[in-house]
Amino acid sequence: MAYKRILLKLSGEALMGDRQYGIDPTRLAEYASEIQKIVEKGIEVAIVIGGGNIFRGVSGASNGMDRVQGDYMGMLATVINGLALQSALEDAGLQTRLLTAIKMEQIAEPFIKRRAVRHLEKGRVVIFGGGTGNPYFTTDTAAVLRAIEIDADVILKGTRVDGIYTSDPEKNKDASKFDSITYKDVMNKGLKVMDMTAFALSQENNLPIVVFDMNTKGNLEKVISGENIGTIVDK
Ligand code: UDP
Repeated sequence: MAYKRILLKLSGEALMGDRQYGIDPTRLAEYASEIQKIVEKGIEVAIVIGGGNIFRGVSGASNGMDRVQGDYMGMLATVINGLALQSALEDAGLQTRLLTAIKMEQIAEPFIKRRAVRHLEKGRVVIFGGGTGNPYFTTDTAAVLRAIEIDADVILKGTRVDGIYTSDPEKNKDASKFDSITYKDVMNKGLKVMDMTAFALSQENNLPIVVFDMNTKGNLEKVISGENIGTIVDK
């Protein structure tokens, strides 16, 4: 295995499947089964999930809503997704804990670093909900922050695209994919891997990022075993 402890970042939009909004139970079950396969192999798995399928602070603000208010709504959306994912993972037979950046103790444990690490050591899948707990941040930043805190070996960004391209492959046919790229080149070429805050935090702490297609069955397992099917960003 290439990694022992990973942080998997899933966007909220990924949970929509073919829907326009909300959560697709089939997609959720597929993800749970992919995750179960790597937990069985002894990989310690922490997950940060986005909320974009339910609410984004920026879109609220563009419709006249107070940005901070909207961001809190977005953070709550990530908790909703976290609860859904927790259910699906438990249906797949896994032990899980949901830890939130904002206290809501009837629903989840508050995030405490040592507790998170202990859960991982015991083989529980840890889901981090509520982003960073602060407005003006994203779940990408939360993912990098938590990955560093729990000393994860890598952050795996599961997307619907199979890596980082010279330009958007959904818009440009001639775009070509990088197998690997340095943090510096990502910056110099102006490529978009994560938002700037998340990316800078990852670079400063030498946390490698793997971008891969999470929607193809077996891909997560391949990444874990060291197969280079996506793009790895490293120093
Ligand atoms: N959010 C926030 N602080 C955080 C993480 C998230 O305010 O630390 C809010 C923000 O409004 C964001 C929303 O939660 O738009 C959903 O998160 P994100 O857009 O990162 O989700 P994704 O795009 O991954 O689905």
